[in-house]
Amino acid sequence: MYNFDMNESKALLILKLRKIGVSNPEILDCMESIDRSRFVSESFLSRCLEDIALPIDCGQTISQPSLVAFMTQHLEIPQRSKVLEIGTGSGYQTAILSRLASRVYSIERHKKLVDIAKRRLEKLNISNVTILLQDGFFGYAPQAPFDRIIVTAAVEEIPRLVVSQLKVGGIMVVPIGLPNQKQSLLKVVKTEKGLDIKELMSVRFVQMKEGLVKS
Ligand code: SAH
Repeated sequence: MYNFDMNESKALLILKLRKIGVSNPEILDCMESIDRSRFVSESFLSRCLEDIALPIDCGQTISQPSLVAFMTQHLEIPQRSKVLEIGTGSGYQTAILSRLASRVYSIERHKKLVDIAKRRLEKLNISNVTILLQDGFFGYAPQAPFDRIIVTAAVEEIPRLVVSQLKVGGIMVVPIGLPNQKQSLLKVVKTEKGLDIKELMSVRFVQMKEGLVKS
């Protein structure tokens, strides 16, 4: 059981989201209705509505809710779109995406996290998401091209193979930076001529790593 006021914490979070410029009513509605407590372990339940990243299994983290909302808003997800997410982690961002896109493909390198996230989304009756054990550096060719791509682990440079799977006119949001250094969240728009790149803010994500972890 929670020993804190859930409604008050939720109201505070929504207020903070508005303050940082998350104004899209659909996204605010998702943030309000998708319960973050479903995506953290028992020991972090009392902190699940704080605007902080929290530890999850496999030494990874569930992102800060304000950052989830901010990145989602910058994806500008159109109706009837196909979205690729790299770095499923807890599945929280995946659940938000599932409400805005028609299909979501989410890939994760840790088998344990894939299994847990799949179970969580099933419990929430989310059926338009496919979570796959894959190395994100390769994107997901069988379903390319994508309307939108979100990367939730930091990479040293824009992964070429992944961006090649983005449609012209598509948007990708990706944190770029060297391990243990300041990272920049980039919004990349693919045009006929190339990539339009805008820096959104400084962020701190776990680093994207090569290869799968099956144990
Ligand atoms: N949005 C997630 C954030 C998870 S942290 C959430 O809110 O829960 C980033 C995730 O990216 C981690 O789970 C990590 O295992 C995963 N990751 C790192 N490198 C990867 C790769 N090459 N392919 C797929 N997933 C990767």
